[in-house]
Amino acid sequence: MIVLGGGVIGLAVAFELKVRGHQVTVLEQGLCGGQASGAAAGMLAPFSEIGEDPNDFFHLAHESLKMYPDWQQAVKEISGKSFEYVQSGSLHCVYHEADFLELESRQHWQGTFGVESEILSQQQIRALEPNISDEIIGAIYYPEESHLFAPDYVKALEIGCRKLGVTIEDEVGHISIEAWMEHQVLRGPSGKQWAGDRLIVCAGAWASEHEETFSLRVPVYPIRGQICAYEVPAGDVRHIVYTSQGYIVPKGNGTVVNGASEDIAGYDTTVTEQGIKRLTNWNGHIFPFLNELTPFHTWAGLRPATQDGYPMIGETKKAPHVVFATGHYRNGILLSPITAKVVADVVEGKKTEVPLTMFDPMRFS
Ligand SMILES: Cc1cc2nc3c(=O)[nH]c(=O)nc-3n(C[C@H](O)[C@H](O)[C@H](O)COP(=O)(O)OP(=O)(O)OC[C@H]3O[C@@H](n4cnc5c(N)ncnc54)[C@H](O)[C@@H]3O)c2cc1C
Repeated sequence: MIVLGGGVIGLAVAFELKVRGHQVTVLEQGLCGGQASGAAAGMLAPFSEIGEDPNDFFHLAHESLKMYPDWQQAVKEISGKSFEYVQSGSLHCVYHEADFLELESRQHWQGTFGVESEILSQQQIRALEPNISDEIIGAIYYPEESHLFAPDYVKALEIGCRKLGVTIEDEVGHISIEAWMEHQVLRGPSGKQWAGDRLIVCAGAWASEHEETFSLRVPVYPIRGQICAYEVPAGDVRHIVYTSQGYIVPKGNGTVVNGASEDIAGYDTTVTEQGIKRLTNWNGHIFPFLNELTPFHTWAGLRPATQDGYPMIGETKKAPHVVFATGHYRNGILLSPITAKVVADVVEGKKTEVPLTMFDPMRFS
């Protein structure tokens, strides 16, 4: 079985397939985790991210969050590599009285799915986050939302895959798909070929380049996220703090991460002064002490966004031996355990635990 792409999705899929006893090869043009996955802030925050729609995407993301305690433990045990994973809870903050209505509506419908939350007054928020801005007048607190250190998590997945016996061929350059009907044949720039009985396309923001190959619409676009980090004493920020204009995530290494822009810039991962300024101009409205600090690190990655914002997961009738797992946009880290599970179920012909119709790769064609 061949997995095309060594980001968090490709590695998680390979990890799960190998645990279930399949032979797997991962092909990656650069370094594993070298694209969007290594750039992520690492929030596992489905309730903050999905506030409007109690749809199957919410269900997918919620299930994935529930899988995390066991999943991250398995990745740590098999890889022997530890990484930061914290159930910190999150505060989804608002600035205007009228915004409380939105918080109440979220709390109501999310509550019907068993989501724990509490609407907090300014005073209650201060008890949790003493340094937060006075401009913030309310928040919904989600105690179950978590975060991890994405580069270390992806590295642990890679090491775990190798230890399990997954063949990972990285830095092989751009891979083309030469045949996909009966047998899957892929070729690298050196002329080297790989063949397999199944192909799992986990090509992130590059998935659209295979449209012609499959005669299938694959509307996945790169959305650049620029992001920065500050050195901040431990304890000065305690939770994920989410606002409509940006978020702050505290990390165990004495830094906080502040993200992220959403730019259309093709495949350009340059960090721009304007992009970082948009973040730094706002974050004083979250934590005023950040106005006095300068980010020590800035970076960018390309989120794989589909036309409707939902991932493409599953088989297509046109290409029965090809499974798609791409287009995870803002939530690929969060969605990695559930994607791995459902892709492995699809490969094994099992009924998936969560409905996949909404994520049908054929829906754009
Ligand atoms: C700034 C930023 C912050 C983010 N924060 C979060 C967050 O807090 N929580 C969260 O859940 N998500 C977050 N995300 C989103 C998350 O990073 C992505 O959804 C996720 O990384 C997508 O994983 P992927 O494996 O599909 O893509 P990628 O990590 O981009 O991996 C795809 C891989 O496929 C390889 N590839 C593609 N085509 C070919 C080919 N033809 N030949 C060989 N190799 C190929 C690429 O080189 C690449 O390494 C963030 C993203 C960004 C940019």
